Amino acid sequence: MLMQNRKVIILGSGPAGCTAALYVARAMMSPLVIQGIQPGGQLTIASEIENYPGFIDPVKGTWLMQQMEIQATNYGAEVVMDHIVKVFLDEYPFKLIGDGGTTYSCSALIICTGAQARWLGLPSEEKFKGYGVSACATCDGFFFRDKEVVVVGGGNTAVEEALFLTNFAKRVTLIHRRDELKAENVLQDRLFKNKAINVVWNTVIDEIKGYNEPRQVTHVVLHNVKTEVSYELAADGVFVAIGHSPATDLFKGQLDMRNDGYIHTHPNSTTTSIPGVFAAGDVTDNVFRQAITSAGMGCMAALEAERWLSA
Ligand code: FAD
Ligand code: NAP
Repeated sequence: MLMQNRKVIILGSGPAGCTAALYVARAMMSPLVIQGIQPGGQLTIASEIENYPGFIDPVKGTWLMQQMEIQATNYGAEVVMDHIVKVFLDEYPFKLIGDGGTTYSCSALIICTGAQARWLGLPSEEKFKGYGVSACATCDGFFFRDKEVVVVGGGNTAVEEALFLTNFAKRVTLIHRRDELKAENVLQDRLFKNKAINVVWNTVIDEIKGYNEPRQVTHVVLHNVKTEVSYELAADGVFVAIGHSPATDLFKGQLDMRNDGYIHTHPNSTTTSIPGVFAAGDVTDNVFRQAITSAGMGCMAALEAERWLSA
């Protein structure tokens, strides 16, 4: 079976993984980046990025991630297409197994496996993803200036997204499946005071409707779970805010995690419960979840790994 041994392995090729790779490569430690099934990470499904510093005009997510990867490989990082299915963090060097059977070992491991937004699971949601359906108001809210949008969910994220969207949209409708929100009281208070937001209780989305050419959302079909009444509501955008799932299944039982499943890192650090294992980006962050914060943590992880190895 193929065997790859490296001083540093970086799991994931999103902004955190690519930035970690750049810094580790510049420290002359030739890191190996294992890309996983989403090369470039979540940004590759974002249409336009307007808030990554350094670019005056909007850039495509795929382009930005290609640039990050090329920058890292130019300094000596190697990127491989593989998806890790098993890790052995109780062995040293750490051991990882790819889905094709390749075994990898490393002295320091930087975990940048990110997180994935939870979706409603409707076929029409899949159809309009990136064309009016989004899971990130900070990223896509700007495209809904003076439009009508709906937000689905009842937690802190949904309420924050709804409040944020009032900066752009002319009307925001929050759709929640129950008759009370899960969000903190202080956020609920702000929500109920905001005249641009209407809350629809006990309701779920059955379907998202729109045009095919150009692909564009026009309506949602709502369904009141108490009265069983269904009706249509005009909407240009649908923001799904029903939580995120960090990609941490691989590490369960091996690394300390928080109650919400994110990898626990020490304060102001990317160090985890196992010395030599570092975690950066969305896999450890349920608050900021931005490309720039992930890249920043990738840089921190590389510097900490470098110091740990030389100590
Ligand atoms: P991710 O980008 O999630 O990358 C995770 C990587 O880990 C992937 O390469 C994946 O293949 C790999 N991986 C996972 N499991 C394994 C495994 N078992 N083995 C090997 N590899 C694995 N942020 C902004 O700042 N601005 C925006 O405009 C913006 N727009 C967005 C639009 C959308 C639609 C979405 C979904 C997100 C957007 N974000 C935006 C958020 C941003 O994309 C994330 O915060 C950022 O990508 C997180 O980076 P990351 O490197 O931590 O993880
Ligand atoms: P969350 O707290 O898990 O809330 C998810 C919401 O989505 C819940 O209201 C849930 O409904 C609803 N939901 C789940 N699945 C659904 C489905 N299939 N269809 C319709 N609705 C569905 O997630 P979150 O709001 O993303 O927050 C995640 C974590 O980050 C939390 O710990 C939160 O406190 C934290 N966070 C904090 C801040 C802050 O401090 N400012 C901001 C954002 C997030 P039910 O209520 O019926 O379960």
